[in-house]
Amino acid sequence: MSEKKEGKSKAEELKEKLLINRKSGALKLSDKKIKQSDYFAEEYKVFLNESKTEREAVSTAVKLAKKAGFVEYNLNKKYKPGDKVYYVNRLKAFIAAVIGKDGTKNGIQLAVAHIDSPRLDLKPNPLYEANDLALFKTHYYGGIKKYQWTAIPLSLHGKIIKRDGKSIDVTIGENPGEPCFCVTDLLPHLSKEQMAKTMQKSIEGENLNILIGSLPFKDDKGSELVKLNIMKFLNEKYGIIESDFLSAELTMVPAFKAVDVGFDRSMVGGYGHDDKVCAYPTLRAIFDLKEIPEKTIISILTDKEEVGSDGNTGMHSSFFRFFLADLAQMDGMHYHHVLSKSKCLSADVNAAFDPTYASVYDPANSCYVNNGVVITKYTGSGGKAGTSDASAEFMAEVRSLLEKEKILWQTGELGKVDAGGGGTIAKFVANLNVDVVDLGVPVLSMHAPFEVISKIDLYMAYEAISAFFNQRNA
Ligand code: MN
Ligand code: MN
Repeated sequence: MSEKKEGKSKAEELKEKLLINRKSGALKLSDKKIKQSDYFAEEYKVFLNESKTEREAVSTAVKLAKKAGFVEYNLNKKYKPGDKVYYVNRLKAFIAAVIGKDGTKNGIQLAVAHIDSPRLDLKPNPLYEANDLALFKTHYYGGIKKYQWTAIPLSLHGKIIKRDGKSIDVTIGENPGEPCFCVTDLLPHLSKEQMAKTMQKSIEGENLNILIGSLPFKDDKGSELVKLNIMKFLNEKYGIIESDFLSAELTMVPAFKAVDVGFDRSMVGGYGHDDKVCAYPTLRAIFDLKEIPEKTIISILTDKEEVGSDGNTGMHSSFFRFFLADLAQMDGMHYHHVLSKSKCLSADVNAAFDPTYASVYDPANSCYVNNGVVITKYTGSGGKAGTSDASAEFMAEVRSLLEKEKILWQTGELGKVDAGGGGTIAKFVANLNVDVVDLGVPVLSMHAPFEVISKIDLYMAYEAISAFFNQRNA
């Protein structure tokens, strides 16, 4: 029997031994760790500001990969342990790999995050004029609450391929002095009818039109002179004509930069934390590897998660399988044997408990800001539909790793059972017969133009993925 520690009651002692410690995670961390979190968040903010679209995230990833000594993957080359390669799929998905001492023979250690975020995509034929204003038609991408996207500054990002094949990268509205764009909303004075509608109906998808100009081309004759004036500007700046929109991917995203939130600067607000807040740690964990790992380590940044992971750059496609098949072949292996022995962290966010909307959360099974990286055993909705549900065995493995490495972590479920739900890429990886669990950062206001995360949780995600990559005999 142990002695009674000073000042502690028997109940307190027993609680400490038997129950989960629910005090704020920030109290469990050293000042040094909190400082490291702050520093890491500064680097993350730079990444976030440079990576508002999947194309931009891939460019940033390539830049960081080269800096970390990674070289572009070459199918005709044979790689040896310690070699660091990256592969880009259609400029929208990214794979980084460090070849392990055992190559792919005993499976690989994998982490996957997504780099697409909800936004307003321009329609193929976007430009029109109405009542002397020029506007763009949009079709929103991913799950958004439409009213949140009105009356905020938006910037234009994307790519136009002209008829002659010349490609133009477009970014307007990010730098000081550049114009922004916006979706207008109705003034309260005239909103009687709008305000009586449900939130889902108050702003229609078809009404998410972007205001882009108001001055007509100076000529008394002719119609649509405002539209003409905008097209003239675009032609002068980019050399495009209206039909070039048909071979373009243009999107409107919030124009604001990532900023600290709170007097204590403990949080970061910004656009696209889901899922760049996991994509960045996923990248850094592989770029910062110090020793040659036993198993081959792979980090993937994937596209299209917000619309179901379909398409040739999404996790449901075969791009990762094909890449792995090549690596496996080098080791004289079949990729399906590699996959069956592999383990994966599906690095994605979860909904942080929000006291203002407490009624949609189960307090005991939610994740909390500053309580560390969140492990989500299953996602899905309506009775776990559409989830891969990590096994007790794999949960135990990940849990014991995090505890051994003293990484602040918590579990979380996405809200109350019947409150709604959502999915991640975990199931697509699990369907390849890989052990997989969701691990990521709790987010407040998820999918809003301005999402909030904690610096501590971000850093713990980095430490968790790093520990997963660095483990021996996994
Ligand atoms: Mn996500
Ligand atoms: Mn999402």
